[in-house]
Amino acid sequence: MMMDPFVRRETEHKPELLFLDRWMERFPQLTAGFSTRNGGVSAAPLNSLNCALHVNDDANNVIDNRRRLACAAGFSPDAMTCVEQVHGIEVAIVTGEQRGMGSCSREDVPHKDALITAEPNIMLTAFFADCVPLYFYDPDCRAVGLAHAGWKGTVRNIVQSTLDAMSRQYGSSPEHIHAAIGPSIGACCYEVDDKVIDQIPLANVYVSAGNGKYMLDLKEMNRQFMIKAGILPMNIEITRLCTSCNTDLFFSHRREQGKTGRMAGWIALKG
Ligand SMILES: [Zn+2]
Repeated sequence: MMMDPFVRRETEHKPELLFLDRWMERFPQLTAGFSTRNGGVSAAPLNSLNCALHVNDDANNVIDNRRRLACAAGFSPDAMTCVEQVHGIEVAIVTGEQRGMGSCSREDVPHKDALITAEPNIMLTAFFADCVPLYFYDPDCRAVGLAHAGWKGTVRNIVQSTLDAMSRQYGSSPEHIHAAIGPSIGACCYEVDDKVIDQIPLANVYVSAGNGKYMLDLKEMNRQFMIKAGILPMNIEITRLCTSCNTDLFFSHRREQGKTGRMAGWIALKG
């Protein structure tokens, strides 16, 4: 069996994180990964590595958890840079001036769902509990991107809007871009109704579950949009990990009926 692209590293007194090991071995200037729910300080039902400020956690716990995450990923906490996610497709272009944006507070943070940068030592970070983390790296133009794709962002093609922004800002061409699709709710668990399915432009990404319900594969949908956009299939990493199947490892908004925390996905060029 092929090893999953997101590889777990567990160490005592540290947050348990998944790293995109193959990327990090091939591109030593890059770091990228996804946190689990383990190794933080938040109490149930946000136990314990909740990284989001908007889920009624004590802000001090969240900031402590984020500090643990940043340090374990090799950054200082003020490198963490994030946006207020709104299930849209807008992209934040991050320069040194925005470094640290959103790291300690939700105030004055732009409402967007993707971040791109070509500057080192900026840890692009977004938060997830079932939605799909999308990672982009252009080794030619040395630029990175991270997107948050729930079903709405997926349908509206946040893949394309992120790639367009990387092309416009950094001259990135899709055929040089490496992409990864991270832990999120799988077709095994993601049941939706026909209100959602009516908006899905691809026929081969869902199956009927009877009674007007369908099992939707958001990861595969994003993969197909990546290929349509010109990313080479061989340059796409896709995880098998389902957040809803693994609540020992992940927060799952669907499985835990909304009363849960958020993991963090990150990507950065090292300083
Ligand atoms: Zn599942």
